[in-house]
Amino acid sequence: MSSNTIYIFILFCLSCTTVAAQNNELKADCIRFNQLNTAIRDGKIKKPEAKTQFQNLMIALKAHSNQINDTNEWVFPVQGYNYRAAGGIAGNGYADRSYTYFDGNKHLAHPAHDLFITDRNQDCIDDKTHQPVNILAVADGVVIACSNEWEINSTLRGGRYIWIYHPRQNILTYYAHNRELFVTPGDVVKKGDKIAEMGRTGYNAYKKRSPTHLHFSAYHLIDNLPVAYNCYADLVKTYKR
Ligand SMILES: [Zn+2]
Repeated sequence: MSSNTIYIFILFCLSCTTVAAQNNELKADCIRFNQLNTAIRDGKIKKPEAKTQFQNLMIALKAHSNQINDTNEWVFPVQGYNYRAAGGIAGNGYADRSYTYFDGNKHLAHPAHDLFITDRNQDCIDDKTHQPVNILAVADGVVIACSNEWEINSTLRGGRYIWIYHPRQNILTYYAHNRELFVTPGDVVKKGDKIAEMGRTGYNAYKKRSPTHLHFSAYHLIDNLPVAYNCYADLVKTYKR
């Protein structure tokens, strides 16, 4: 080996080690975030302490996710559907008054869009395609929290849910009521990756009166704290004629 080859080889090994270390740190951040998110959801942590921990974890997540290059050109999160699947008229199913993430499972309002499929018999199989409906990551990101715990008598409103952090856009996205998840905290996902299949899990979503849907939310990170926003325009933009 020439000295040049050896030098390049050493540089290559160093950069691999750095990427591997960053991936390990990112995974550890995500596991910690998932624990914090569960504690907030269940009201097991005081709000000021929860906010401080949330901010510190967001700073760490940002530092360890250099390799993720998400853009704000999303794909629609429900495969085979478009913005017209959103409940209400022109996105007015979204309501964030009196909502705060830190209220957890007891939160008020509906800072989300419910995206409905055609499923008359409520078996989570699309009446048109006769297939389960894939839930897709709207943009590149890393999965920071999930829950697979839901059972029929559970009072958890989100059911089987997923949270994704998108570092370039500085946002979080949330996907609730799934029947099955295909990711765990720490997984790096690409735009359009299948992350779940649509379901009816969740305290209200399971009830007969609720048509089968994805509950989808987006949050800006302001001061490293989550602030829900109405992303209807982003959902409309995904529609390609
Ligand atoms: Zn909803």
